[in-house]
Amino acid sequence: MADAAYKIIDHTYDAVVVGAGGAGLRATMGIAESGLKTACITKVFPTRSHTVAAQGGIAASLGNMGPDHWTWHMYDTVKGSDWLGDQDAIEYLCREAPAAVYELEHYGVPFSRTEEGKIYQRAFGGMTQNMGNGPAAQRTCAAADRTGHAMLHALYQQSLKYDADFFIEYFALDLIMENGVCRGVIALCMEDGTIHRFRSHSVVLATGGYGRAYFSATSAHTCTGDGGGMVLRAGLPMQDMEFVQFHPSGIYGAGVLITEGARGEGGYLTNSAGERFMERYAPSAKDLASRDVVSRSMAMEIREGRGVGPEGDHIYLHLNHIDPAILAERLPGISETAKVFAAVDVTREPIPVVPTVHYNMGGVPTNYWGEVVTLKDGNPDTVVPGLFAVGEAACVSVHGANRLGSNSLIDLVVFGRATGHRIAQLIKPGSNHAALPSDSADLALGRLDHFRNAKGGQSTAQIRLAMQKTMQANCGVFRTTEVLDEGKAKIDAVYTQMADIAVTDRSLIYNTDLIETMELDNMIGQAVVTMHSAANRQESRGAHMHEDFPNRDDDQWMKHTISWFDAGAVKIDYRPVHTYTLTEEIEYIKPKARVY
Ligand SMILES: Cc1cc2nc3c(=O)[nH]c(=O)nc-3n(C[C@H](O)[C@H](O)[C@H](O)COP(=O)(O)OP(=O)(O)OC[C@H]3O[C@@H](n4cnc5c(N)ncnc54)[C@H](O)[C@@H]3O)c2cc1C
Repeated sequence: MADAAYKIIDHTYDAVVVGAGGAGLRATMGIAESGLKTACITKVFPTRSHTVAAQGGIAASLGNMGPDHWTWHMYDTVKGSDWLGDQDAIEYLCREAPAAVYELEHYGVPFSRTEEGKIYQRAFGGMTQNMGNGPAAQRTCAAADRTGHAMLHALYQQSLKYDADFFIEYFALDLIMENGVCRGVIALCMEDGTIHRFRSHSVVLATGGYGRAYFSATSAHTCTGDGGGMVLRAGLPMQDMEFVQFHPSGIYGAGVLITEGARGEGGYLTNSAGERFMERYAPSAKDLASRDVVSRSMAMEIREGRGVGPEGDHIYLHLNHIDPAILAERLPGISETAKVFAAVDVTREPIPVVPTVHYNMGGVPTNYWGEVVTLKDGNPDTVVPGLFAVGEAACVSVHGANRLGSNSLIDLVVFGRATGHRIAQLIKPGSNHAALPSDSADLALGRLDHFRNAKGGQSTAQIRLAMQKTMQANCGVFRTTEVLDEGKAKIDAVYTQMADIAVTDRSLIYNTDLIETMELDNMIGQAVVTMHSAANRQESRGAHMHEDFPNRDDDQWMKHTISWFDAGAVKIDYRPVHTYTLTEEIEYIKPKARVY
């Protein structure tokens, strides 16, 4: 069909990585290093990926600033996940983390230093000593408050050393699937409008989160979950989508992030009475309780009339008691951000903040090797051959129901590396490729052509705004059956509006109208499954706070939600949580009440 109308350029690779953020670059490097013919496709220049915006740091139990051990990091991550994380994967993450950070150091990441020249580490929410029994652990390795920037640049520079081909400003459209096996991916070159068909033994989705499905998010406008969109269209499920992290400190109004590292360096929150209210909600960890707990406490204060500002709808974050020299050294970026986006001088005044969408715990289900898994014929760990996912796009699941701050950057490099190893094990360089099926480009080109010629009555921006407002209002920090049921009806209605979308620019060259429309199409499916998964889960766990079911219910709900999306209909099923560890060096950490 559409093949004739679009010029297709064919490529053949052993491995194709979609995405050049921290996860995609680390995977690309590892695969290319093993001698496999590797391509990396990215819609933005690699160093513009959202990883560049990460501020606070990367977690690893180096023990540079006090006692620490990987088992303590593991305990905190399991507890942070509210026992929804898979403990084999969490063990792998925490055990491998120190080596991954030293690797970054050797790649040239300019970490901040201690007096003795070791990597500087700061306190972060939920990170403690001695299996949750000790004081806060200083575990988060930082390059001032620009850790992601330093990391992404170092990774990109290193990746150029290897023989990988970069396809920059190429927009991946859809996977090529044949009989349940991933055979490659189709992409649009945004510069000249050519279509590129990548035949490959393996495809790695490293496309990041879908934070932009919400109205107020700290993530970049490019965080539209394109990989998740492709996976849903391929008839595969997404996992744990109801768990959306709200960061306690997005700047009020602008949504721009003030790192948790600000509280790690001694910052604290106050309400309209000037009270340090976190002391009431989390008596021991206080402002450094985990993110879901702090965000909920802030929302409670606002709801009970103790918010600050003319409308009483936000909270103050104080750094003005901290030595200005420390602020200049350790938090220079956020000092500038606060000035630009809130007109606040952090050495004198508090910053107005409000819980803001920040991270998607849900994503493409994988095992700890990055292999995509699905529930098939009763087997919940059925591997989808040829398909991998890493980074925020994936759900390994190490973050479970709530991610701890600084555990994402480490997830990117640990599992990016693991995926490279797995692909090197599975594929021999130069092994033969079977011919692709004749309809291999139909799904991608049919969809492209459909949106390019869409002549409906509503603009992409209108439908996107309706989606974002619905998610913000009906799938937020606090949820009830009534609000979620209304949310399901509303988001389903927004989805039906996609049939009436209008694209005005018909060209194929830097057509941002068309690209934004395809991004919206990727997000809307995930918005729908997020809402339905949230309405389905009748308990409260981690970031999912359901007021009609305020307690965690391990008997019924200690399981991963998996959700398919087919032409507007959501199907839900479950995968068991891995309640076993990887080695005998640590036992399964049993569920208990989660208090900070
Ligand atoms: C403001 C901010 C601060 C943060 N701070 C921290 C922190 O201090 N510590 C921490 O651990 N975590 C932090 N996080 C979370 C963490 O930074 C992210 O989860 C992580 O960087 C995601 O990395 P990634 O490689 O998965 O994806 P990204 O960095 O988002 O990269 C996605 C890549 O996919 C490509 N892509 C997407 N769609 C397509 C497509 N259709 N075709 C081609 N290419 C595509 C993009 O071009 C890009 O290269 C922060 C997040 C934000 C938003």
